[in-house]
Amino acid sequence: MHAPARPSPGLPSPFVISAPERRELLRAVYEEARVCVRCPLHQTRTNVVFGAGNADADLMFVGEAPGANEDRMGLPFVGQAGKLLDKLLAEISMDRKEVFICNTLKCRPPDNRDPHPNEIEACQDYLRRQVELIEPTVICTLGNFSTKLLREDTTGISRLHGHEEIRIIGPRAVRLYPLYHPAAALYTPSTLEALRADFHRIPDLLALGPPEQPQAYEPVPELDDAPDAPEAASVGVGEPESVAQLGLF
Ligand code: URA
Repeated sequence: MHAPARPSPGLPSPFVISAPERRELLRAVYEEARVCVRCPLHQTRTNVVFGAGNADADLMFVGEAPGANEDRMGLPFVGQAGKLLDKLLAEISMDRKEVFICNTLKCRPPDNRDPHPNEIEACQDYLRRQVELIEPTVICTLGNFSTKLLREDTTGISRLHGHEEIRIIGPRAVRLYPLYHPAAALYTPSTLEALRADFHRIPDLLALGPPEQPQAYEPVPELDDAPDAPEAASVGVGEPESVAQLGLF
């Protein structure tokens, strides 16, 4: 959880964002996404799967796109891949309530096909605003689609997994940490082994703290004592009702 309040990206600087403000701003982005018609996927979705977890998280996971279960429940990673994600989180003594989990696409591609470039293009603004508001220290991209999008490069996950790097995303620097997608690890033991080994390094990356920030977003000392309220930002996940996403972060 974030310690001091920080200047907020997207808002006039110097401006400090508190945890409750962060959650409210994220909720506003969700309200926008909930009725999104920016790409044809809105015609076939049941629910927009905006993401779930702690709006004040230091650790964020970005997967590919909702599958059938996620589309039905309105929550990310609720199927077999999600169970594996939960298991790996437990192995590093963490759980979903502490992190924020979302996807590159917020709507399910029919028949679980790969995301199309026009869909990624139309949807990426939501992800970038999520990153800006949550201000994670570490972003784990799960699989090729989120890795390529956030690195703005076509290098594939098998070359990149387990190699952290500092990347500027929007106005902030983050530790970007590409991992194999849990779905790919479900049926391939060697991929699972690699994912697990990479995953177990996450606590060390978190312990490094946020990377040095671009000049404009250095904390403003006089405002550092603004109250943060992490307890108010951490809300349980798992309620299946689609509208319960409102209470998820
Ligand atoms: N795979 C993903 O990439 N995201 C989900 O939410 C579920 C499965």
